[in-house]
Amino acid sequence: MTGLMEGKRGLIMGLANDKSLAWGIARKLHEQGAELAFSYQGEALEKRVRPLAASLGSDFLIECDVSDMAALDTAFDALAARWPTIDFLVHAIGFSDKTELRGKFMDTSLDNFLMTMNISVYSMVAVTRRAAAMMPQVEDENGVKSGGGSIVTLTYYGAEKVVPHYNVMGVAKAALEASVRYLANDCGPQGIRVNALSAGPIKTLAASGIGDFRYILKWNELNAPLRRNVTIDDVGGAGLYLLSDLSSGVTGEVHHVDSGYHTVGMKQEDAPDI
Ligand code: NAD
Repeated sequence: MTGLMEGKRGLIMGLANDKSLAWGIARKLHEQGAELAFSYQGEALEKRVRPLAASLGSDFLIECDVSDMAALDTAFDALAARWPTIDFLVHAIGFSDKTELRGKFMDTSLDNFLMTMNISVYSMVAVTRRAAAMMPQVEDENGVKSGGGSIVTLTYYGAEKVVPHYNVMGVAKAALEASVRYLANDCGPQGIRVNALSAGPIKTLAASGIGDFRYILKWNELNAPLRRNVTIDDVGGAGLYLLSDLSSGVTGEVHHVDSGYHTVGMKQEDAPDI
């Protein structure tokens, strides 16, 4: 299976390094012929992102802090200056003050609550609006629409159930998942699909801020039906599915890539105490 993304191009937002979920998705898209642009937050990350992008044949890098609406406008202007249309977008961005990703959710400060919601949720809304405006739309003589595009964001099970330490990020992911459904409904008439991947825990820069993350990883490994943690390649494969025409009838969906962990109601009998 090659060439699934031939002739398609899109923006990857949220690549920090080769551990990033965005990297797993970008690699799979590239393998299938997609042309990729990357946005990064700040100069420090550019040094990491540039060689990774180059290894996938891309020199198209755009700086963008998604909490700054003017920066978002500038980034999408830069995108449109080179590519008048895009076919897909990956939103792999989340942030919260790590001192509040431990202890009690009840102690979340207003400032961090708002910042977390802004960067991790509102950015998806702001980005979808700008990306949708760049997605092609073709209508045939019978009024049947084709083209459109596909947008994917990343969420986590802490949106659905309490995961100790995930706190305000869980509340933000719940809002993100609800946003995906509303955005999918807004964009549907244009043939644009909006979905989320709910990834199991993976050791990344962002995840290292979550209290006792090693315990979460171990617990998932021992209790998920597949009895292993997922990799960024697992996430990448599912990302390719949602961003390609393979999932042409799928929108507003939260698709779990978590070794089946979300289906399990209690500790597995064969799981040792940890
Ligand atoms: P990561 O650290 O590799 O990526 C997080 C990205 O968010 C970074 O590239 C960072 O630059 C970007 N970012 C943060 N604030 C930003 C801002 N203001 N403007 C622009 N970019 C900003 O970590 P990751 O785990 O790959 O995270 C990607 C997404 O996947 C996040 O939404 C995360 O919540 C989600 N996710 C991660 C896991 C996991 O276990 N790692 C599981 C499920 C979902």
